[in-house]
Amino acid sequence: MRYISTRGQAPELSFEEAMLTGLARDGGLYVPAQVPQMSDAEIAALAGQPYEEIAFRVMRPFVGDAFDDDTFREIIAKAYAGFGHDARAPLVQLGPNHHLLELFHGPTLAFKDFAMQLIGQMFQVALGRSGRRVTIVGATSGDTGSAAIEAFRGLSNVDVFILYPHGRVSDVQRRQMTTPVESNVHALALEGDFDDCQARLKDMFNDFDFRDRVGLAGVNSINWARVLAQVVYYFSAATSLGAPGRAVDFTVPTGNFGDIFAGHVARAMGLPIGRLVVATNRNDILHRCIRTGAYEKQGVEPTISPSMDIEVSSNFERALFDLYDRDGAAIAQLMDELKHKGGFTVSQGVLGKLQEAYGSGMADEAATSATIARAYHSTHELLCPHSAVGVHVAEPHIGANPMVTLATAHPAKFPAAVEAATGIHPPLPDRMADLFERPERLTQVANDLTALETLIEERRSV
Ligand SMILES: *Cc1c(COP(=O)(O)O)cnc(C)c1O
Repeated sequence: MRYISTRGQAPELSFEEAMLTGLARDGGLYVPAQVPQMSDAEIAALAGQPYEEIAFRVMRPFVGDAFDDDTFREIIAKAYAGFGHDARAPLVQLGPNHHLLELFHGPTLAFKDFAMQLIGQMFQVALGRSGRRVTIVGATSGDTGSAAIEAFRGLSNVDVFILYPHGRVSDVQRRQMTTPVESNVHALALEGDFDDCQARLKDMFNDFDFRDRVGLAGVNSINWARVLAQVVYYFSAATSLGAPGRAVDFTVPTGNFGDIFAGHVARAMGLPIGRLVVATNRNDILHRCIRTGAYEKQGVEPTISPSMDIEVSSNFERALFDLYDRDGAAIAQLMDELKHKGGFTVSQGVLGKLQEAYGSGMADEAATSATIARAYHSTHELLCPHSAVGVHVAEPHIGANPMVTLATAHPAKFPAAVEAATGIHPPLPDRMADLFERPERLTQVANDLTALETLIEERRSV
């Protein structure tokens, strides 16, 4: 399996190279040259299998010869062993024809653990056999960073630096990043918002001297392996609900378009997904673009669902690449307009295809809180604010197919918003009950490329 860049100017890579590289050298994102297909019989045979077995069968064709079958099975087994639920991604019913896919039973209580735990194991095997060292730098709106630090802490060939927007993550998110004691993980509080963190990260990848000197690797959802890991739970959920005999709809709380793009990949592989609905908070650039075709930055406002406070939605580039029939030059031009003019408008033909591929909706702050309260009173399910955005947007889209809304984080990760809506303070699971007693370790940094690069070179362990 070969991987190609969405901007058409970077070398093709193997799975392992694409995973260790992250961003392509032309500024694009790697995608598989062809999407492997699964037949109805192969999909039907997934029903009732353990999550790990589904993961193996769905991801195997993408991985190529990077790992032999036994090694790959072992990687998957280790990745999900630390989850607090045997089903890994359990479904619960919220209402008539509406199901919640609970993706928050991993070690840091957000869906990011599904991909990051897997990537941690894959990096360890790949780096262990080559003797290579890498420096992972990640940008986070809160959950990616904690999941990455958890997955890579103490691993021998890796230093990890996480940029998070100072003062804009929840206390639980921050503490999950600042309390691990291993010396190879570093939490950096950047003076700016998430888009600034992501922009500085991209600048580092585009500084080829720095990139090569430190062996820069990325684990943001620009990394294809992240998206791939998330394809799996679309298969586990849909086959539980009757696929391939029956189509299933999904609503996905979205910021960087990674999780929902994984749904697009599952559909492209042959999984019968009907509606794939993008749910945004009031930072609704994706919803506006799907409605009008204009992707226009307006400035990010902080919300109670901070992991979706994003305007430069990286993985949307992967979606556009497919909608533009994989024309890398067209994508490079749109991304150039975004960078220099603050927006772009898709062609009329692409807008039609975009609307066919994705539904969309937005939940403002009041709707989000009201949904947390309503879900609690009608089902006793405590939703985190991101999941509540999903549920609010899903409801008007529920039709004949079962609707699955992705619950992206545990309510205890966002206790203030949950308590304000329901009066209930959601407790942390026992395994992290002492989070607020552990000492914190972090470094505040300016929103400045040189300062960041200097700090990383000083702190990394070789
Ligand atoms: C990261 C995150 C999202 C957004 O996911 P994308 O893949 O960026 O669309 C939503 N909810 C939570 C809790 C998250 O951590």
